[in-house]
Amino acid sequence: MRCVGIYVFLLLIIVGDPSVGASLLQPQPFPGTVADLSFTQRVSLLTDGYEPWQAEYDASGRCISGCVYGGITIQDELQILENNTNVANANLTQYLNQIPHPQNQTNNTTQNNQNQLENLSGIIAQYTPRCRPNNPNTPANQEIPLGVPLVGTTHITSPYGARTHPVTGKPSVHRGIDFSAAVGTPVYSPAIGTVESVWTDNSCGNGLKISHSNGYETVYCHLDSVLAKQGDAVGAGCVVAKTGDSGITTGPHLHYAIKYNGEYINPTNWVNQN
Ligand SMILES: [Zn+2]
Repeated sequence: MRCVGIYVFLLLIIVGDPSVGASLLQPQPFPGTVADLSFTQRVSLLTDGYEPWQAEYDASGRCISGCVYGGITIQDELQILENNTNVANANLTQYLNQIPHPQNQTNNTTQNNQNQLENLSGIIAQYTPRCRPNNPNTPANQEIPLGVPLVGTTHITSPYGARTHPVTGKPSVHRGIDFSAAVGTPVYSPAIGTVESVWTDNSCGNGLKISHSNGYETVYCHLDSVLAKQGDAVGAGCVVAKTGDSGITTGPHLHYAIKYNGEYINPTNWVNQN
C-alpha cells in the first residue's frame, strides 16, 4: 500500500490535481528520465522510509513498482546505478591505495606501515566487539565492505543487473548479488560497522542493514535470523545473521547489496576484492 501511495502521490505531482485549475488540465509529459523529476520529488521518495530492494517494469520498460525514481525506464535506472558506482569506485581506489603493500616498500616504510597496523589493531581491539565465529578472509581493520560476506565456496545464482524476475517473470533490475546458501549459513559483516536496521517485509523477508564508514551501507535479505539488533557495533568479519529462505525467493540464498552515500551501487567490484 505504501508503494501505491507513493506512486499516486508522484502522479499527482507530475500530472497535477485536475480540481486546481483548467491550466493544469493540459496534458503533461510522463517523466521520461530521472532528469524530469524535481529535486523535491526525488527526496520525498528517498526519505519516506521507502527502501525498495528491487524494481519491476512493465512491457514498455517503465518502472511500475519498487522504483527509487517513479516511471523511469530500466535503462535510466541502470544508468543511475552506474553513475553511483563510478563515484564509489573513486572512493574504493583511494581506500585501496591507503592499505600498505610491504612488498612494494623500502625497509623503513615497511617498518612504519607495520607500526601503523599495530596501532590500528590496538584501537580495533579496544573499540570493536570480539566475534566468534569470524570470517578469516576479512581483516579486522577493514572499514569498507570488501569481499564476500560468506565463508567457503560461494556460488552466485543471480548477478547484479537487469534480469527477468525469477518469481514474477517481469523485467527487473537486480540491485544486489544472490549467493546460494543452505538455510542457517553464517553471514559475516564485511567491515566494521553499526547495525542500522533489522526488519521484515514481503519481498526482502527478514532484512538487515549495516552502516559502515566512508558512506557505505550493506543490505542483506531472505535471512532466517538476525543475530544483532539495531544500534549494535559489529566488527569486521563477525557473524551477524544466518541465511534463510524468507520473502520472495525461489530457494534458500543470500541477497547482498551495497549502498554508497545512500544510493545502491553495482557491488561486483567490492565483492571481488580479497
Ligand atoms: Zn537478490
